[in-house]
Amino acid sequence: MSDYLVRGVGANKQFRVFAAITTALVEEARRRHDTWPVASAALGRTLTAGLLLGANLKGTDLLTLRILGDGPVGAIVVTAKASGEVKGYIQEPHVDLPSPAAGKLPVGDAVGQGFLYVTKDMGLKEPFTGNVELASGEIGEDVARYLLMSEQTPSAVALGVLVSPDCRVMASGGIIIQMLPNASEDVLAHIEESLEKMAPVSSLVSRGMTAEKIVASAVGGLEVRFLEKAPVRFKCGCSRERIKDILAALGREEIEKICREQEKAEVHCHFCGELYTFTGLELENIIKQL
Ligand SMILES: [Zn+2]
Repeated sequence: MSDYLVRGVGANKQFRVFAAITTALVEEARRRHDTWPVASAALGRTLTAGLLLGANLKGTDLLTLRILGDGPVGAIVVTAKASGEVKGYIQEPHVDLPSPAAGKLPVGDAVGQGFLYVTKDMGLKEPFTGNVELASGEIGEDVARYLLMSEQTPSAVALGVLVSPDCRVMASGGIIIQMLPNASEDVLAHIEESLEKMAPVSSLVSRGMTAEKIVASAVGGLEVRFLEKAPVRFKCGCSRERIKDILAALGREEIEKICREQEKAEVHCHFCGELYTFTGLELENIIKQL
């Protein structure tokens, strides 16, 4: 099953729902950044959350989700586009911590305490930024807290990544349910009860459940009208040309220094792990074009 995202409204517009299957893109992120299991889960949950939070973006809007905790994995940064493209990285991909329980990765311990920041760049002069203190570092609870505190939307958030014994990503997905102002107590209680009974999202995805079925299970069979279904994928906008521009922006002196000291320039893209190498001759050409 390819990765995709669905968006819908339910119970006569008493709630909004977003759900996504992200197994392939989280596996791609794992491969690109060589993340170990707990880092794969932390980055995978954040990539999924970025896509779900960005599901309402339009045109060239961008949403950046940053989790800045004091735990061993360091910062996690994810950027999602309206087109369903997402990219992201985790500062320390090689982290290994003891699991609190069999089959559960200690994401909260790996992330630690700190803050979550959401920046929405919608082409206006000032991008919107909201932040909240991390609730647990488990990402899902932190995003729910952000939606409540910063956007005043009571929400349920479930995110999950399942990693195989050989460290590959076997399943990944997530769901966000946002209660709208006219939501009744009954609907709220029904959804809370259904979510409590629901198995972890990662295990539902690993059983081959579709995003639509996960939504149905999460809302306990309440009527949902799906408004959109769209593919999502890992994609970084970096290119040789862009990296060349960044090098050029360093200026003549700095590039000459690199030429003298290293004879070539190696630039790693943080977001996708791609390595760009420029030979001494290419660097000289960049200087000539300045
Ligand atoms: Zn890149």
